[in-house]
Order: sequence, then structure tokens, then C-alpha cells
Amino acid sequence: MTVIEKLKLPHIPFLDGRPKRLLIDGQWVEAASGRTFDTFNPATGERLATVAEGDKEDIDRAVAAARRAFEGPWSRVKPAERQRLLLRIADLVERHFEELATLDTLDMGAPLSRTTNNRQRALGMLRYYAGMATALHGETIDNSLPGEIFSYTLKEPVGVVGAIIPWNGPLTATIWKIGPAIATGCTVVLKPAEEAPLTALRLGELLLEAGVPDGVVNIVPGYGETAGAALAGHWDVDKVAFTGSHLTGQKIIQASAGNLKRVSLELGGKSPDIVFADADLAAAVPGAAMAVFANSGQICSAGTRLFVERRVYDEFVGGVAEFGRSLKVGNGLDPATQVGPLVSREQLDRVTGYLDIGQKEGARALAGGSRLTGEGLDQGYFVPPTVFADVKDEMRIAREEIFGPVISAIPFDDIEEVVRRGNATSFGLGSGVWTRDVSKAHRLARAIRAGSVWVNCYQAMDPAVPFGGYKMSGYGRESGKQHLDEYLNVKAVWIKTA
Ligand code: ADP
Repeated sequence: MTVIEKLKLPHIPFLDGRPKRLLIDGQWVEAASGRTFDTFNPATGERLATVAEGDKEDIDRAVAAARRAFEGPWSRVKPAERQRLLLRIADLVERHFEELATLDTLDMGAPLSRTTNNRQRALGMLRYYAGMATALHGETIDNSLPGEIFSYTLKEPVGVVGAIIPWNGPLTATIWKIGPAIATGCTVVLKPAEEAPLTALRLGELLLEAGVPDGVVNIVPGYGETAGAALAGHWDVDKVAFTGSHLTGQKIIQASAGNLKRVSLELGGKSPDIVFADADLAAAVPGAAMAVFANSGQICSAGTRLFVERRVYDEFVGGVAEFGRSLKVGNGLDPATQVGPLVSREQLDRVTGYLDIGQKEGARALAGGSRLTGEGLDQGYFVPPTVFADVKDEMRIAREEIFGPVISAIPFDDIEEVVRRGNATSFGLGSGVWTRDVSKAHRLARAIRAGSVWVNCYQAMDPAVPFGGYKMSGYGRESGKQHLDEYLNVKAVWIKTA
């Protein structure tokens, strides 16, 4: 019996036991080396599928296909046709949404309650990029040169895009890279994360079904140091769109230096979530808790440094700990599960390592604090929601990205102080402010050095609203009209008319 049958879920024909292959030039092919790797369910340790392991040679083949497609008929496809293509993809994703969400759950562990909740986001992104496909345009610009000389700009696709994504939200991460590429007329070579490649591969089948021309989207799973590095360093790739850790981001920049390709980076964070005593605390408790516990803390913009005004600190942090303890941790296939496993053994070791460091540094675990086993969880990588109190700014758990369900709760006394301490990080991705005082909200929205500020909410995302980092959280924006600009070149045209 497969794991899926045990949990009485619909059969997924995609998981038929056959090895999964690479998508290159519209064909499913073996890796040139013939090598494969296995992908596992992090809730149970069970093997889900064997996947072709792409490396440099496969990246070369995929980039060549993407280049041919870019220079071939794809460059003459009209915006309205790219729009129709994206709308067909959206319809297919909608029709197969349960299956795609379940694949995300199986491959990286997030509970079905979360992956199925991504429906609006996944479909909204595809339909937003579809809309934007016909809204791209240059400008006519009055210049001040003497005589009659006319100037305007063209927006042109940047070319072959190398997209490298992490494992923490495979379906939406894939759409976030492929959507703008198709909308702008680029072609793509996508490297999914080795921990969770299945959803991107199933999506690849749907892309072909929707009629994406050969070579426009290529999907090459493989390891970061081989396939990923080959893509980032490839001479014929015009842009790399990367999401992952800041350490890998630095390697991507170095690899990109050869041909000076364009780079956009969405990296990690250590985001401040600031709770004032005047906030609606009943709403802020679950809000601040889920700003970290959602996806088991495996979200780059998670609000992991929880600053709480001192006079409500004990009560508030106690409330967050109690909320954390109330969450159901378990196999993501169980509809009641709210917090799933971490994605891998490596991630489990990393997070439990930080739990030990926190305790040694003198922080007090009010909830969680060690790996969860028993009750069928022994083979999985489960860490319960953890709340550390008495955290000091200089502790490693207050400075380093843990990427697990771990809150570091820190008291503060006044607004200038919390702005200074909140900004005292090399990251700048997300941030939260909880207050009923509108002037405080506006002051902090300006003062915080981060790409997103969420007031009385956390992690709100929309295809039309740009998302991205300040400082070491990266550069470039995803979502919003800025996202399309990342995939476009601006060409100035001058015409002497007399
Ligand atoms: P995480 O710690 O979240 O796994 P990584 O930055 O290691 O983050 O991985 C994100 C993506 O980057 C994955 O697809 C991974 O395979 C890829 N990757 C890792 N190392 C490199 C590298 N040196 N060059 C290019 N891609 C890489």
C-alpha cells in the first residue's frame, strides 16, 4: 500500500513508480549521465519517486533549447497569445489543483490545510501575469536636443532566464518564475530544489498540455552545486532569478560575473515583528504566532524576532506559547494538521542545533524546545512550535536565520529603541507592527528597513503587490509591475525626422 492509500487520499497517477525525467525542448528525457536521485516524504521518510539528476551537460542542452526557442517563433508570438497561454495554464492548474497541492504536501511536508489554501495565490499569479502580458509598453519621451529628433523606448524580453528555486513552496515558487517569463516573452530553464522537485515536474506536464512551445520552459532537477551552479554560471543565460539562502545568493553573484548576467535575488531574513501594548492583543497573539509557525517557520519573511512592549511582554509571550502548544503537529496529509515536518534531516539537524544553542545562551523555552517523536512521528522531521523568552539581541537565535518554527521573544520600552534594534540586522525582508495607534503604524512603516511592512497582519501577499528584500535579503521584486521589469530590457530608439 502506498502512503497515499493509507491516508485515504485520491490516487495520484503521477506517482506511478516510474522515474521522473527532465523536461528539455518539449521532451521528457533522461539525464545525460544516466544518474538519478530519490525524493522522500519528510513526514514518514518514505521514498516518493526517483528523479533524473540533471547536471552541467543537461543544463547546456536545456539552455541551448531555450536559446533556440527565444530566437525562433516564440519571439514573434503576440502579447495576446502569451496571455491566452497563461490563461490556459491557469485553467489547467485550477483543474489539477488538489493534485498539485498534495504533491507539495508529500514532497516538502507542509500540511494540506496550507497547500490547498494556496489556491487563490497560485491561480491569481497566473492570471495576473496573463493580464500583464498585454499591458507591457515603452514610452515616448520628449528630449531637448536641437532639431527634429524623436525618442521612444521599447521593452524587450531579457532572453534566456535561469530560475533556481527552493523547496519551501514548490508550486507557487515555480509559478513565480515561469509566469513573468511567459508574460514577457522570455524562455526559462528552471532548476527545482533537490528536496522537492515533484510539483514542478507535474506542472511541466501541464505546461505542455497547455501548449507551451518546445524549449520555452525547460525543467532540470538536480543538485545546487552541479546543475544550479552550471545554470548560474552559464555563458548563454541572460538573467538568473534566484530564491534561496543568502550564502547561495553570494555564490550566484560570483557565478554570474562571467557574462555579467542580470541577477535578481530573494534571500533570507530575520524579520522583526513588533507588538505595542496598545495593540488588539487577542488578534496579535495568533498573528505573531503564525508569522513564524506557518510552514514550520520555513518562510524567508517569517517574523522570527518578536519584539514585545515590556509592560505586556510576559502576558503576550505566554499567550503566543500557549497558542503554539495548541497547534496540531503531524503528517501534512491529515486534514487536522496545522504544522507539518521540516523538509529534511539536514533541516532538522540545523533547527534542533539552534534549539540547543538558544538554551545554552540562556533563553527560556516556554513552548517546544526539542524534536517531537512518538505517535507515529519517529520517521519524520518534526519540531514543535517553539517560543524562546528572555532573548537578548546579541544571542545567535536573535541574529541568525533558523528556518524553523522558532520565535525569539525580546522585550522593548519605546519606539525609537525598537526601530533601532529592529533594524540592527543584516537582513531586510519582512516586518510586522501591531498597534491601534495610526501614527505609530505610519512612523514604523517608514522607519523599518525592509521590503514589506505588515501592520496588524503578517505575510499578506498578492500578485499585484511587490515583494522583495533590502540589504542582505536580496534585490529585485517579485509580484507587481516591478516583477515584469526584472524580465525586460529597455531599449531607447532615436529617430531623426528632419
Ligand atoms: P536552502 O537552504 O533553502 O535549501 P539554498 O540556497 O541552499 O537554500 O537552495 C536554494 C536553491 O539553490 C536550490 O534549488 C539549490 O539546489 C540551489 N543551489 C544551492 N547551491 C547552489 C549553487 N552553488 N549554485 C546554484 N544554485 C545552488
